[in-house]
Amino acid sequence: MSYYQDKPETLERVQWLIKLRWVAVTGTFVAICVAEALTSSGFFIMPYCLGAVLIACYNLAFSLYAESLSLNYDEKKATKFANLQVSLDLTVLTYFVYLSGGAESPFISFFVFHMITASILLSTKSSYLQAGLATSLCSFILIGEYLRFLPHWNLTILRPNPYGFYLEGRVVAITILELTAMLFLTAYLTNYLAGLLREKQEGIKELSRLLKIGKLLGSTLKLDTILNIILDTAVSETRTTAGSVVLFDEKKDELTLRVARGFSKPFLNKTSSWKIRKGGMTDMILKEGKPFVIGDTSKSELFKNPVAIKEGIKSLIAVPLFTEDRVVGIIYVDDFKPRNFTKSEVRLVSLFATQAAVAVNNAQLHEKTKELAITDGLTKVFNHRHFRETLENEIIRADRYHHPLSLTMMDIDCFKKYNDIYGHFEGDVLLKDISDLLKRYTREMDFVARYGGDEFVIISPETDKERAVEMAERIRVEVVESFFGSEEAYKSVTMSLGVASFPTDAVSVDDLIKKADAALYKAKRAKRNKVCAFVSVSKTGA
Ligand code: GH3
Ligand code: MG
Repeated sequence: MSYYQDKPETLERVQWLIKLRWVAVTGTFVAICVAEALTSSGFFIMPYCLGAVLIACYNLAFSLYAESLSLNYDEKKATKFANLQVSLDLTVLTYFVYLSGGAESPFISFFVFHMITASILLSTKSSYLQAGLATSLCSFILIGEYLRFLPHWNLTILRPNPYGFYLEGRVVAITILELTAMLFLTAYLTNYLAGLLREKQEGIKELSRLLKIGKLLGSTLKLDTILNIILDTAVSETRTTAGSVVLFDEKKDELTLRVARGFSKPFLNKTSSWKIRKGGMTDMILKEGKPFVIGDTSKSELFKNPVAIKEGIKSLIAVPLFTEDRVVGIIYVDDFKPRNFTKSEVRLVSLFATQAAVAVNNAQLHEKTKELAITDGLTKVFNHRHFRETLENEIIRADRYHHPLSLTMMDIDCFKKYNDIYGHFEGDVLLKDISDLLKRYTREMDFVARYGGDEFVIISPETDKERAVEMAERIRVEVVESFFGSEEAYKSVTMSLGVASFPTDAVSVDDLIKKADAALYKAKRAKRNKVCAFVSVSKTGA
């Protein structure tokens, strides 16, 4: 999907030149007619008509070619086409200058206009070549006239004598020098101004692109959607065929492919995540923190990844995604043919990288905030609020699928005393160690949370009371026997645990918590270091 499709710039300018030329041809014909009407036979219109007809013919051919080029655009062809047009214009202009008196021609100043057009339309190098061509052609006619191998003409209304006079050598030399200086200076100044203008226009275009992307990004908060929008825009704006955004995990020193375009399935499977090779291309991109461009991967020392070589990647731009002072990923645009990326293309990808980095940073912050909101700060297990939400959802699920569910509540025995003897800092360490133990001794599907103080809870979905009691007993024994054995302070640590189940003991959240709590206090009353299951009053009177 492409969000922007600009008309190619060179073609746009060529079409503008063709229109301008129609105006010039019409103007020339009108001027010839007026001159003829004013002077009757004094003005020799035929050679001028010939020139004007020639311009009209090639301009017609050019306009037809421009149409076909717009259907199947090729930048190289368009550039050659523009060069050809400007060279032909220059040749016809020199012909008019020759007819109208050479060095004394009133049209000689038109070379300046020609240079301005050439400098706006063509590259800096080509416009200097045009200045060189103009001075060569002019020198040819002036020297030719001076050496008498070209006859002197002056077919203008101002000087009706067609044979005029021949200039002195000194005048010819000065005229050529003046013309050369004037044309090169015009080329230099126009190129300079056109460059400034182009930069300004590009700046405006970049701003409008950013504005459009900004609007699109504002419509969603999902990281993948945002990265897809940015990647699509980067690929379409650089007219590349593929691209990807990878995220960097600093702790694992690993990159993960997040979104991609234009690659084969095997390539995507093999690059879903990869370790950074020291001294490799990715390592360099991350370390240098600057846009990285390869025009032809077959000639690059750094491009060695066999999977990427097999995929046929021939050129690429890679830009690290920076937020504050850390790199969070890399955006790549790739092509399957070698190409010279322009400065503006690299700058564009860098702009998209900035946007992607902000999006990744926001998403990561959002994730972190969400995590903080549900986690207990000290023990890193879930907090009380999240426990209640989860228990509510799990009870609904257990009810829908007719599964049992068990809740285990536990409390450290005589923790007050432990705090008094060893201090609150050691007490905190114990709470953390107990949490780690609970995570280790429960299954992936179990949910461990800190209920408050020295109390913990475990929700065990799809687990009946009997299996929950077995798990609780394993935990109790582990606390007593092996876990704290080496530390003197931990030798006395024990826990009491109470188990209640849905739907046998309770069917609501509050009731299930009350029943598990009741079982826990039964264990406390039975001199602690015990596991007790809730038993219904009607059965046993517990
Ligand atoms: P019992 O066997 O009856 O549970 O006796 P106990 O001393 O453990 O009594 P209780 O569970 O009521 O006491 C909980 C103690 O846990 C009280 C408080 O000082 C301590 N405590 C609660 N939160 C923290 C905490 O975050 N860090 C530390 N170090 N101690 C805490
Ligand atoms: Mg306690």
